[in-house]
Amino acid sequence: MNIADSDVIASVLTGTGYKLVKEPGEAGLILINTCSVRENAEQRVWNRLRQLRYFKKKNPDLIVGLAGCMAERLREKLFDTEDLIDIVAGPDSYRYLPSLVAEAGSGRKAINVRLSSCETYSDMLPAYPCHDGITAFISIMRGCNNMCSYCIVPYVRGAERSRNPESILKEARMHFESGSREVTLLGQNVDSYKWTSGDNTMEFHSLLAEVAAIDPRLRVRFTTSHPKDLSDELLKTMAEKNNICKHIHLPFQSGSNRILRLMNREYTRGDYMSRIESIRRIIPECSVSTDIISGFCTETDEDHKETLSLMEWAGFDFAYMFRYSERPGTLAARKLRDDVSEEIKIKRLNEIISLQNSISRKSKKNDLGKIHEVLVEGYSKRSKEDLTGRTSQNKVVVFPGENRKKGDYVNVFIEKCTSATLAGRII
Ligand code: SAH
Ligand code: SF4
Repeated sequence: MNIADSDVIASVLTGTGYKLVKEPGEAGLILINTCSVRENAEQRVWNRLRQLRYFKKKNPDLIVGLAGCMAERLREKLFDTEDLIDIVAGPDSYRYLPSLVAEAGSGRKAINVRLSSCETYSDMLPAYPCHDGITAFISIMRGCNNMCSYCIVPYVRGAERSRNPESILKEARMHFESGSREVTLLGQNVDSYKWTSGDNTMEFHSLLAEVAAIDPRLRVRFTTSHPKDLSDELLKTMAEKNNICKHIHLPFQSGSNRILRLMNREYTRGDYMSRIESIRRIIPECSVSTDIISGFCTETDEDHKETLSLMEWAGFDFAYMFRYSERPGTLAARKLRDDVSEEIKIKRLNEIISLQNSISRKSKKNDLGKIHEVLVEGYSKRSKEDLTGRTSQNKVVVFPGENRKKGDYVNVFIEKCTSATLAGRII
């Protein structure tokens, strides 16, 4: 999501004469785009700011700004905490960056943290279309209307609003024409995408079908799906179109009904299982990944065991796993006690990680001896002889290059695997 937002920022600034540079030492303006979801994301930003002091010392005219969720959360307080910061720009303020930069250039601290109910940056097509030239990200909506009790997103990114489908299709076509072969449609809850114009309403599954119709050589992915909103229509659309990738990211967070209720997730363990069953029924080859939080308020060993058993039942291909980190101002911070000790959160998280490692290994082993179509994304990290790319199921594959290049589709016979990667040869 932040990659797509950084594209918007680059688009606004390059439109008013700025140029992107590769090294911080060459820059007159450095903007850090930030995330507030967990405390350690913010910690990384503080460390980065400390590193930037060196550049400010070398160039006292350097302007440093903080953009995104952390800017929205901490507002003016940022100026007091870190003298280096000249600009604080919330996620709905990017159109005003040129005037914020001008204000900072004249020696004043500049801030805009107003949230909007309609800003979607529809007209902001990326100035530098894609990062590796092959895969691109497109925001189709902003904000979130759910109130998961642990989550800061609705507070720092505002209410949910969907982007005009015409502008999404235009951006996707632009990426395809400039060489991209994969676009990922992004939203906090893509299944609730809705655009109404006159009597017509477009829902997510229709948008997805239209993006997929741009060209069969353009792969389409999307994230994130919410278990309470994932519809069978969407699954059917995925099953019908070859170039819609067969992968769903469906966070479950906890396997315990009691904890799900406290989290305000609006589904039960049983509801979640029935969504997985629908996926397996409608798209048997689909992979499923998830997000899991360990040690949410009041979580007991029994609740934790329910999380482990749901993981085993679902057999996720991949998971992002976190320990609960209380975020100021959220419902949980106001109403519940963060009463699971760090030690227990870490112990449970380690159990979750080690179980997922063995499940991931099993999921990769199932691919041995199969042939997968892979979109080549570039050289492998280890050797220029090998290429890497992903299967439709979003599994990373490494294989000898045989003169193929970025953007090619190749069929790879899978011969080896680890818990994270597949390896094989082109056939
Ligand atoms: N909109 C998406 C995810 C947004 S945040 C969804 O609803 O699934 C990405 C992930 O961060 C969440 O799925 C959750 O697992 C994790 N997360 C969010 N807030 C957290 C917190 N306070 N502590 C730990 N993990 C958190
Ligand atoms: Fe946060 Fe829940 Fe919205 Fe996801 S759906 S962004 S977890 S409030």
